[in-house]
Amino acid sequence: MTRAPQISAKLAGFGTTVFAEMSALAQRTGAINLGQGFPDTDGPAEVADAAIAAIRDGKNQYPPLPGIPELRAAVADHQARFWGQTLDPDTEVLITAGATEALSASLIGLCDTGDQVVAFEPTYDSYAAGIAMAGATLRPVVLRPDTDGIFRFDESDLRAAIRPSTRLLLLNTPHNPTGKVFDADELALIAELCVANDVIAVVDEVYEHLVFDGAHRQLASMPGMAERTITISSAGKTFSFTGWKVGWACGPAELLTPVRTAKQFMTFVNAGPFQHAVAVGLRLGDDFYEGYTATHLAKRDLLGSYLERAGFGLHAAQGTYFSTVDIEPVVARHDGLPADGVDFCLALPETAGVVAVPTQVFHDDPRHGTNIIRFCFAKQDETLIAAGERLVEAFA
Ligand code: PMP
Ligand code: GLN
Repeated sequence: MTRAPQISAKLAGFGTTVFAEMSALAQRTGAINLGQGFPDTDGPAEVADAAIAAIRDGKNQYPPLPGIPELRAAVADHQARFWGQTLDPDTEVLITAGATEALSASLIGLCDTGDQVVAFEPTYDSYAAGIAMAGATLRPVVLRPDTDGIFRFDESDLRAAIRPSTRLLLLNTPHNPTGKVFDADELALIAELCVANDVIAVVDEVYEHLVFDGAHRQLASMPGMAERTITISSAGKTFSFTGWKVGWACGPAELLTPVRTAKQFMTFVNAGPFQHAVAVGLRLGDDFYEGYTATHLAKRDLLGSYLERAGFGLHAAQGTYFSTVDIEPVVARHDGLPADGVDFCLALPETAGVVAVPTQVFHDDPRHGTNIIRFCFAKQDETLIAAGERLVEAFA
């Protein structure tokens, strides 16, 4: 008798990601999709043209394992230009299949079975799965909205979580799904605890150019952190080409070597011609980067005004391209609306013709964040207006 196919114990419980589920729901129902985070317009034409030229020029075979030299140099220059980070492009930059592979390869390459990984939750969905694939254990520190709408953690929770047995701290700033941008004091505390407990930091900065309130600061720039931090980003968000899956990990050579070892058996390499195009993108002028931030700030405010008019409790989106809201005030005013975020989102195509993502699925303990849902505002203004009007019509 053959055994029934069964998912490994490591991945039991992960199922299909909420992003795929919610995009399928939008397609099935025809609702406006503000769920999965992706832009509905293409990025800069010169970057797209560079990809087409690279394909036509025959740049179609395996790129080198660490990535093409032009892209590694462009990443190093970008990190110096925007964040003052000094990197050797030959030994301190690794090109990956999106930020996702950089994250998984860091976890698999650096953690042993049973190691503890501290992360702030709600966590981006691949973190818990990446930690599980590495055989490690997630130790969450919960972010909760404060009275000013900004998500914060309790210092005592972080102090209790980071211990000498902690192998790694996984940080995402700007933070998906909350829109939080970790400030200098928070980063200083995290750095102090990483240094004191000899913890490696892995920092996901895919929204580095989407900071609206405050400033993007690197954990790697804090005292004692450069030598113990891997910084990860990707072309997906900044250049609005999420399907290209070109990402990178930066950090000291001794930390990147285990990441490269894991990465070479995951994809080996990917996206040869797109690597050439992303190198062009990273060297675009300040006008591109400033325009990108300003456009998304306006989109945040546009959608935010509708979310408030619809009666949701709007949280501060300091960065990223997501706004989160408290559904409680809307639920309180309407009979029959589900109070649980998952049920609210499953019903939302019917109640309002819009798709959003419940944030409780990003918590270890599903009792957290039950009243908070996330909308993506990286969409054309017409789409945001149409979705906003539907929400106002349904709930105001
Ligand atoms: N980290 C965060 C916080 C994200 O929101 C995403 C989704 N874009 C990723 C990583 C994955 O990035 P990529 O598509 O480059 O793999
Ligand atoms: N990062 C995107 C989000 O948070 C989705 C990426 C994905 O679908 N894996 O919505």
